[in-house]
Parts: sequence; C-alpha cells; structure tokens
Amino acid sequence: MADSEIILRVEDLRTHFGLKSGLLKAVDGVSFTLRAGRTLCIVGESGSGKTVTSLSIMRLIDAPGRIVGGRILYRDQDLTQLSEAELEKIRGDRIAMIFQDPMTALNPAFRVGEQIAEGLLVHQGVDREEARRRTVELMGQVGIPHPEARYADYPHQFSGGMRQRVLIAGAIACSPDLLIADEPTTALDVTIQAQILRLLKDIQRGLESALILVTHDLGVVAAMADEVMVMYAGKVVEYGDVAGIFETPQHPYTKGLLASLVRLDDTPETPLRPIPGAPPDLANLPRGCSFQPRCPVAVDRCLADAPLLRQGVSGHQGGAGQQVACHLVEETAGEPGS
Ligand code: SF4
Repeated sequence: MADSEIILRVEDLRTHFGLKSGLLKAVDGVSFTLRAGRTLCIVGESGSGKTVTSLSIMRLIDAPGRIVGGRILYRDQDLTQLSEAELEKIRGDRIAMIFQDPMTALNPAFRVGEQIAEGLLVHQGVDREEARRRTVELMGQVGIPHPEARYADYPHQFSGGMRQRVLIAGAIACSPDLLIADEPTTALDVTIQAQILRLLKDIQRGLESALILVTHDLGVVAAMADEVMVMYAGKVVEYGDVAGIFETPQHPYTKGLLASLVRLDDTPETPLRPIPGAPPDLANLPRGCSFQPRCPVAVDRCLADAPLLRQGVSGHQGGAGQQVACHLVEETAGEPGS
C-alpha cells in the first residue's frame, strides 16, 4: 500500500522558557513526521515536553515561553513563520485541538451548541441556521443523545464524558487534517475513556486525518498508536512504530515505562515496578544524558556526553527499527540493559 500524504513535518523544534531560575528547555530538538490517517502517540512523564510540543504545533505557547528554533511544516507551510491572523485561519479549521479538561476548555457562560457552531461560522462561512443544523448533526455523530434538545444546554449540565464529546464535536466540525488530543481521557473513568478513544479512532478513520495523541498511559498507546514518540526532559529518546516500541523497546527509559505496567499475571502481592527517582529539573539538567541519574545501566560516558537520536536495530518482526538516543544502543547494536 502506498504511503499516505505527509500532513505534518516537525524539524528540530525548540521551545524554551526564560525563567528567573534559568532557561527551561521544555522542548529541545524534536523532529517527527506524520501522515494522513496515522496516529502518533507522544508519551512521557509530566514535564517531558509532550504537551509543550503539541501546544507549539498549535502556536499556543504563552510568554515567557517561545519557539526559538526549528520548523513546523503543515503541508509544506511553516507554521512558525505565520502571522497570528494567518494562523487563525488554520487553527480550528485545518488543525484542531482537543484539550485535557473539558470544563476549562468550554466557556461556562455559553450554550454548548453555540460553542460547537462557532468554528463553522468562523471558518466555513455558513449562516446561523446551517451552523445549527450541522452542529446538531455533529452532536449526534459524537454520541450525545437528543442533540436537538441539548443544543441549548450549558456545559455544567453535561457529565464529564459528555463534555469531552462536546469538545470533540467542536474539534471535528470543520473536518481537520490534523487533530491534536492532549490527554483527552485523563479526567474520565475507564468505561467512558474506552468509549471516547473508540469515538476518536472512528472519527479519525472517517476523516482520514492525522492524529497526535498526548498521553502518559501506555494502555492508551497500545490501543491507539501507529507510531510512538517517547519523550524525556524535552527530548525524544525513542521513536518508532508501535509494535517495535512494545516488542523490542531499546531505550532504558522506554523499558522502564513498559516494565512499570501492571500485568494480567500480576498478583496482589506483586510489587509495583516504578522507575526510581524523578524527572530532572529542566532548568538545571544533569550533565551528559538527562536520564543518567535514573538509568540502571549508565556507564561513564553517560555522565559526559548527551546521546544523539539515531537509528537503532530492527528488533521485531517486519519492523524498520526505531530511533533511539542512548550510548549503549549505538555501541552494542540495540540491547542496552537486557
Ligand atoms: Fe542510560 Fe547512558 Fe543510555 Fe542515557 S545514554 S539511557 S544513561 S545507558
């Protein structure tokens, strides 16, 4: 099957925050490519840079944060070079974002129907009657019961899961090429989470859009991803297709994340397997490899040199191999810590 069209190409993206405590490199040299119909999951702990990466793509970084380098190519148009007015035409139309917390993303003072319809009025040039008709259709499409009656309700009259559906309806209103969802199910219970993820997948297939899903939940990654980008301390430490990441993880951090998952054969007596230590202070990173203070297989070189992201070996059946930033992968052809 031929590769689908490239929707987004991020090249060496750097988003830094100038703080009193120092320069915080929240995203520092991130690159990836995303094709139509594909899902990229960005994973990592809090502070890894995954949310800042997605907000940078939307150009929604507030001061003191700033994109200080790199390119964000949406269909060959560099978003870092566009004026705010030019961005407004793309945001919410060709690229849309579903935020983590629907209660803060929705305006409590406006009816949900009006909030969904806004994108249609702004970007599609339809009149109010047509926007309302299409909004009711969208509300039905995302599984909101009795959409006609609920159009005029306010956000507080919706449950958490239904509010998330409202946000999804708003995001897909203009059939975007690229959907970015930042932890869209974190605030929801497991049953509703599964429904929302299935809905996102169905919508993505229908629109053939590219999807970036930011999550810390590897269960979500397994269910949704085509490609996975593992971030640590503002950098990509491993990047590849989902089968490779799960079957033959190369980076010690990815291995740690996977090992910390609860398994079906675990008993109540099985101890938890967290990664020891905590993510580093981004304004005061350790020398060498940022993961070095927590890495169970660090060697002397890790204290001195930061590893570059490079092609690792292909470990799983039929895979092309993932890119890995670890000195041991470079030196031993892909088996650090195993
Ligand atoms: Fe661990 Fe060294 Fe690899 Fe960093 S470069 S992940 S410290 S082995």
